[in-house]
Parts: sequence; C-alpha cells; structure tokens
Amino acid sequence: MPGVDDVLDTPPPAFSAADAVRVAAELFGFEAEASPLPSERDQNFRLRADDGRERVLKLANPAEDPATLDFQIRALLHLERTTPDLPVPRVFAARSGAFCAELRAPDERRHGVRLFSFLAGKPLAESPRDAGICADLGAFLARLGQGLRGFFHPAARGDLLWDLSQAARMRERLGHLEDADTHGLARRWLEHFEQRVAPRLPGLRAQVIHNDASGSNVLVDPRGERVVGLIDFGDLVHAPLLQEVAVAVSEVMLFAPDPVAAAAELVAGYEAVEPLRDEERSLLVDLVATRLAVAIAIAAWRGARFPENYAYIAGDAQALKAALARVDANEAALRAALGERTGSAAASRAAAGPELDRLLAQRMRLLGPTVSHFYEKPLHLVRGRGAWLFGADGRAYLDAYNNVPHVGHCHPRVVEAIARQASRLDTNTRYVTEAVLDYAERLTATLPAGLEVCFFVCSGSEANDLAWRLARAHTGNSGALVVAGAYHGSTAAASDLSPTEPSASAETAAQVRILPAPDAYRGSWRRGERDRGHRDAAGAEAALASLARAGLAPAAFFVDPLFTSSGILVAPPGWLAEVFRAVREAGGLCVADEVQTGFGRTGDRFWGFEMHGVVPDLVTLGKPIANGYPMAAVVTRPEIARSFARTGDFFSTFGGSPVACAAALAVLDVMECEGLRENARRVGARLRAGCEALAAHRKLVGDVRGAGLFLGVELVRDRETRDPAPGETRAVVERLREAGVLVGIEGPLRNVVKIRPPLVFSAADADRLLEALDAALAAVERERPDPE
Ligand code: PMP
Repeated sequence: MPGVDDVLDTPPPAFSAADAVRVAAELFGFEAEASPLPSERDQNFRLRADDGRERVLKLANPAEDPATLDFQIRALLHLERTTPDLPVPRVFAARSGAFCAELRAPDERRHGVRLFSFLAGKPLAESPRDAGICADLGAFLARLGQGLRGFFHPAARGDLLWDLSQAARMRERLGHLEDADTHGLARRWLEHFEQRVAPRLPGLRAQVIHNDASGSNVLVDPRGERVVGLIDFGDLVHAPLLQEVAVAVSEVMLFAPDPVAAAAELVAGYEAVEPLRDEERSLLVDLVATRLAVAIAIAAWRGARFPENYAYIAGDAQALKAALARVDANEAALRAALGERTGSAAASRAAAGPELDRLLAQRMRLLGPTVSHFYEKPLHLVRGRGAWLFGADGRAYLDAYNNVPHVGHCHPRVVEAIARQASRLDTNTRYVTEAVLDYAERLTATLPAGLEVCFFVCSGSEANDLAWRLARAHTGNSGALVVAGAYHGSTAAASDLSPTEPSASAETAAQVRILPAPDAYRGSWRRGERDRGHRDAAGAEAALASLARAGLAPAAFFVDPLFTSSGILVAPPGWLAEVFRAVREAGGLCVADEVQTGFGRTGDRFWGFEMHGVVPDLVTLGKPIANGYPMAAVVTRPEIARSFARTGDFFSTFGGSPVACAAALAVLDVMECEGLRENARRVGARLRAGCEALAAHRKLVGDVRGAGLFLGVELVRDRETRDPAPGETRAVVERLREAGVLVGIEGPLRNVVKIRPPLVFSAADADRLLEALDAALAAVERERPDPE
C-alpha cells in the first residue's frame, strides 16, 4: 500500500481535455466534450454529451492504491442499494465491465480511470451558510452514515492523511508554518488531541465515513437552502462516526456569519435523524478543533510543497486560522451549544482505574466467584474489529487468542446478515424456514460423504452432550474413551467426558477411560521414532480392555484433532487411525470434536480430522461456526440419526434459528470471499517459522507445534530436562498484553503459549506478534535467569 504521503506528494496526472474526450469514448463508450474540474490529487473532467447527459471522468493519481479506488466504488454501490434517494455520485462500468479501467500515460505511469454521474449544484463554500442549510447538511450526513453503516472494505483502514485519529503526527508538519501565533495554537490543540482525545476514540462507534463534507464537496440548490449533493469520496475511511460531524462543523464554522449558531444547527439537524451519544457529544468540540489544526498543518505543508497546484487550499488557510482561533476563544460557549452535558471534556473522561475496580466488584457480586478472568489486571474491552480489540483504556490490542470471531471481530457482513434476518424473522425449527436448510446443505458439502444429517444446538457442550446420546442410542453401549487433558464441555455429561474438569463425577467416570495424549515432546515416545502409531494405539487397547473388565463396551471415543487442552499436540501419522480402528472393532463410534479445529483453522484442510486421514462417525462443531452468534451442531450419518429418533423427539429452542443460520452462512461466504483458509495456511506458516526462529536465541522456547493458525509454543526452564516453565509462561503472556498483544496459556502443565487468532490475521499482524513475543521472552529471561 502506498505510504501516507505518496499520493499527496506525487503530482496529479496531466492529461489534456482532448485526452479526456478520447479516454471517455474508448474506455467507457461515452462520447462527450470535456472541461477540467479542480482536484487536490487526481485529475477530473466534466463531460457533456450532445444529448445533454453529463458525467465526471476521474483520472487517479498514479500513486493511488487500486484497492483504495475499489473501496470508493464499493461504497458508492453500497449507498445505491441502501439509500438510493441520497444524492451522491453513481458509478458507471467501463466497456470492459470493470468499474475502474486502467490508462497508461505516455510517461508509462498507470492511472485508474472511473466515470461518475455529474451532480448539479452550487458548492456550499460559494453560498451563504445560514442556519437552515446547516441543519439540512446535518440531516444529510446522518442519513449518509446510516446508509454506510453495514459497509466495510479491506482498504477502509488505510493510512490516510486526513484521518483525524492520526492527527498527532501532524505536529511535525506545522514546521512549515511561518505565523508563530497560529503555530502555537495549532500545536496546542494537536497536543491536547494526543493526550486527551486520541485515547478515547477507540471507545466510540466507528464505521466507514465520507470524511470530507467540505465547502467544495457539499452541493446546495441555487438559493442555498437545501443540500442537493455530496461529491468526492476520496477521503473515505473507517473512523469514529463522530468525525463525520466534526469535519462538517469545522467547515461551516469557516465562513458562517454566526459560527457557533451554525455549528449548533448542524448538530441539531444531525441528531434529528441519528442521535449522538453522550460520549460522542463530549468530544465533538475537541474533534472540530483537531480537524482545523490538521487542515492548517496540511495546508501549510502543501502550500510550501506545490504552491501552484494547491492554491485553492492555501486560499483557505487564513479562514482556517481564524476559525481555530474562534473555537479557542469560544470553547465553553461552543461546548454548551453543541449539547455537551458534562461541562468539560476533562470531567467526562473515563477514569480507567476506579472504573475497572467498580466493574470487578460488580462482577464478583453479580456473576459469582467461578467466572475468572484473563490477566492480573483484567482487560476491559469496548470494541472489536478484524483482528483487533479496543480497551476502555483507549489502547488497541492485537487479538492472537480468540477463535470465536473466526472471520474477524464484528465482521460487517456477519453483522449485517444477523441484523437483516433479525429484522425479518426469527423462530424455531419446528416451523419450515429456509435458512437452516441452506446452511445444512452448505455445511454438509464441506464434510465427507455420509456425514449428512445435522442437529443444531447452541454451544459446543450441548453438541458433545448430544453426540454422546446419539452414540449410546446407536450402539446400545455405555462406555467412553477420551484423551488425557481433553475438554469437551460444561454440561453434566460433557464434563464427565473432560478429564480437565474437576467435576467429572465418580459414577460416570467409571464408564470413561482415558488414553495417554500423543505428546511427541513429553510422551513415552519422542518424535522420529518408528511404529509410533501402533505403540500408542496400545493405549486404546488397554483402555478398551479395562472397560471390558468392568463389563462395558464403548459407545464413543471423543477426540479433539489438535488435542488443544492437552497442550496443542500433533499426533504422529497413523495414531488416530489406529485408535479409530480399535474403538470401532469394539463396537464404538468415533466423534471428532471440531469445536476448536474446524472451519479451516488448520490451514490446508477444512476439518481437523482430515490431518489424520480418518472419517469420524459424528462431528461436533461450535465456537467459530457463526462468528460469535450462539450456534453449534452435530453432523452424523443417517442411520445414527435414525437410531436416535427411535428414542424420541429432539428439539433445541434456539438451535438452528434463522438468525443463527444467517450468521453461519455469512461466515462461510466471508471465508470464501476473503480466502481465509489460504490465509490461515500462509500466515500460519510464517508465524510458525518465526516462532521456530525465536527458539534459536530464546532458550525458554522448548517446542513449537500446531497447524495453520493454531500454534503452541511450549516454554521450559531447561531444554535438556524439559523442566516446564509455567511461571515464565504467565509472565510472558502478561508482558505481551502490556505490549498490546493477546495470547493464551494451554496444556496440563500451563506452560504452552497458545496462539489462535481470528483467521483474518495478516502477515503484518504475525510479524508484530513475533516481535512482541521475542521482546517478552527476552525480558522474562533477563528477569529469571537460569536456576543454576
Ligand atoms: N469442545 C472443545 C474442544 C472446546 O474447546 C470447547 C470450549 N472451549 C467445548 C467443546 C465447549 O464449547 P462451549 O463452551 O461452546 O460449550
């Protein structure tokens, strides 16, 4: 992606009007005359056809990232669907069918070329800003925000100079400013932003916004009474929604006869359509001032850089300075006029310490002592997006731990699918609805032939509980085999099948036998030995023999294919196939618990059991299935479902509801559209190689293992003796949290760093994690030198 300065630092294209005429005809089949329009960084032409139709031809700056152009196009197409009556440009496809064509200039530079509708209207900057127009603009922007609410694009988080959340870096650009007073004023507001405002921004609702409702981009009718259009989607960004309001307020304050009244009207107009929240209101004046300070810094820098081309920005410089001075002088009046309830920004600032203590006390009182939390200082989260979580402390945390938000936290497509279905119909599976059938078709298509009947429930525990009932009904047996250290859930039956659970009851435990985990690092055999599969399957034979001695035959063997809670283990080839064979010979069924490993987590394959070349009789699914919407499933063979049906009806009130299935379908769609299995493979391999490289110079690292985007890094005090290092593991995980990276701890010895991020984890995220892990290991090694 181009750097933040590349596009602004690269001169705009320099085509002639005759070139524009030719390009419009050749690429878009639009025959017209062309006249130039102003542009900051691209080149725009107004096209007029003989029949009166008008278009705008946009020739992009050669430094512009094609993904950014696509982002703008998709946003406009989205608005065309959600808010068709909102006057924003329409996009026209080129003759090739693409919305963005490519043009190679004589100097070999390549330009994206797009054709938009021409919106008639007078720029707001050329019209008096009376109160009426400000209210109308507020309402317009609120509707725009609602129209864009469900929209997202990978380029939406691009590095944009005009993104106010990045305002702190503008201070260095103030160096170009000759006027010392303005310099001091702008610097003071930028410092205020960095210290007081930026930490609170991650707590605000955010989405894609236009980000530039300026006097030249807002179009009004000839009498200046109504907004008739908004153009130039070149500064589109994912940012706090409030920023949209702040930009517009700062613009109307530039020239309005009564700037405070104009600002108040605009906010009132906005709130008539979309009320602001208290937290937003309390930051509005700060963001208005920040925007003015940023505009001053950019104008100063660019005025010095390209005086000839950016004269129209430089022309505004005086007005910007005057407006910021006005905000500064009238801060209190402005805060009051814009409805800030708290009186001053300082008073409304959330005090992280006492607030957290209060919440923890409330938690203990209301949720009881069994709900533990991660970290010595528990993390108070307020928002998530992609692989990132945002804390009430104003910090961003890279999430390398959570697998439930499989396609990324709050993925807009999943959110939209849930909202759309929830606003239409949500009911249970005793009625005939389509979503559950669509989903069952899609899901079973990913599984081996034969696994084709689905039971939908709401949690992984319920799925395993049900699988256990199915297996008992089908086999008529009552014994179970599980792996040491396994966790299969929290219901009475599932916790009995979970050797990690202290609650496993003596009575049921009498029916359960535990196989040694196939641990190639600490097990009875080590990597590289031959015939390992057979040797360890002897563990299964012994367990089955023990059941038989108690007069029991196995109903089921439950296995998590990556042995997650046993320490994230990679079983030797043939191990699982041998156990499956032994269990089946004794009359039992084999259950793959894919709650952790399913849905492409392991990279190359869709399901964890595929790593072992086996096909289970039942598969249980949960956690990532619907990206966090409660949903889980058992999939099995028809004859097993029939045996169960003989025992009676089965019904789960919420299981497989239309909303749950809409979410789950969206997860499969996103996985395909965004190539997330491939991403898990590619980024997982990078992460693994990086962890292995760390082992070369960090002696705490004893072993690195896993598959795809699921890795375990086992920490030891001594590589020879393999003495586990649980205290060091905890210290490393705490340090990572301090560095803004979230991972977990796994394994019976609590010494395995668990890395299991959302599948949207990028190569850059992986590098960031590796860097932080290296630093954390180094610090802990320094703190806790070798025992000898
Ligand atoms: N099976 C496995 C392998 C799990 O990891 C979990 C949850 N950690 C469960 C089952 C239980 O799922 P849930 O918490 O949704 O009931």
